[in-house]
Amino acid sequence: MNQVNIKNFRTFVIFLFLSTSVLGQKVTYNHIVNPNDQDTTEVMTLFENYLSSKYKKIENSSWNLEELEKYENYDFLENEFQPSLYMGFPVHVLSIKFNKNICEIKAQFSYCKDDGSPYILAIVNYYAKKQNGIYKLYNALNINKLDWNCTTVGLIDFYYPKYHKLNFEKAYKLNDFIIQTCEKFKVKPKTFDYYLADSYDEIQKLKGIDYYIGMGGKLYPKGVTDTVNNNVYCGGLGEYYLHEVFHVQIDQHYPNKHLWVSEGLATLLGGSRGENLNWHIKRTNSYLQDHPEINLNNMLALKNLDDQTTYHYVLGGLIAKKILEKGGWNLVIEFMSSGKTDDDYYNAIQKYLGIKRLDINNYLRKQLLIESKY
Ligand SMILES: [Zn+2]
Repeated sequence: MNQVNIKNFRTFVIFLFLSTSVLGQKVTYNHIVNPNDQDTTEVMTLFENYLSSKYKKIENSSWNLEELEKYENYDFLENEFQPSLYMGFPVHVLSIKFNKNICEIKAQFSYCKDDGSPYILAIVNYYAKKQNGIYKLYNALNINKLDWNCTTVGLIDFYYPKYHKLNFEKAYKLNDFIIQTCEKFKVKPKTFDYYLADSYDEIQKLKGIDYYIGMGGKLYPKGVTDTVNNNVYCGGLGEYYLHEVFHVQIDQHYPNKHLWVSEGLATLLGGSRGENLNWHIKRTNSYLQDHPEINLNNMLALKNLDDQTTYHYVLGGLIAKKILEKGGWNLVIEFMSSGKTDDDYYNAIQKYLGIKRLDINNYLRKQLLIESKY
């Protein structure tokens, strides 16, 4: 699963430190229209109580019952950021807007840097609606998706914008892939929601995210899985993006595995960023030939090769491929329970491929060269 990470480590650390001083801090407001209106004050109290319960990590009664009962992580925004949206950023409410029986709360999570400029983590929207006469909070996603089309194909509920025409051929192919893959991994296929749009920011908007740190740059396809709530989100990837589907169907059944095992297999089966494993292998091979100083014996410390290729996808994918070639799916299944730590992963490479830690650099560079010829 991809998640938005705070790239600026210093800011991250500062905030973990600051969070103790902002715990329980009162929410601030921008200009609020009709602040004395009864509905407005009820929604303000609701939102303040909710945030206070998040920061104090206590149970809350601010969220609506249906979502509380249906989802393990009922607030979809919470895990959009690492370690959490509620990591301690002061919250500034920009607007409270009523539309018929639904109220939209637009909130900015940010702080003011020493030089006076704002550092903005996110601008997100919550909805509030009355449940038995009392306002409760709702995920924007579950309300916004009512404006999208929804089509069920086999196990999958596809959600997509009105402009998109569903490609049924790809949709059925995806369903077939799920059934075959679940058979290989000896797990029961499950139903799930698959959200797709031309760009990932449309998906973010659907979730209620107007801005997130890391937004912008060149437009690349992007997929993300919420394995806890069984949601797959794909921007620019269409109906047949296998990588995230692997995560949503298989991951939870094999909890004792390293991140590289999961990401490697997802990439082997479904590519990454809309490109297949071989595409990533070719560019990694050529990059590493230009960089002989990079030591793959410590590959788990490596992160991104660039903004399209990530080491855990491409090298993890190559290692998964070699294990599959050596021992078929049974060996892959063993590999899926080979332990979570870095040492476990290196040990698994030695156990299943016979490659010692100190030989990994030579081995992988040779394999990348061979595979990049295909
Ligand atoms: Zn992944």
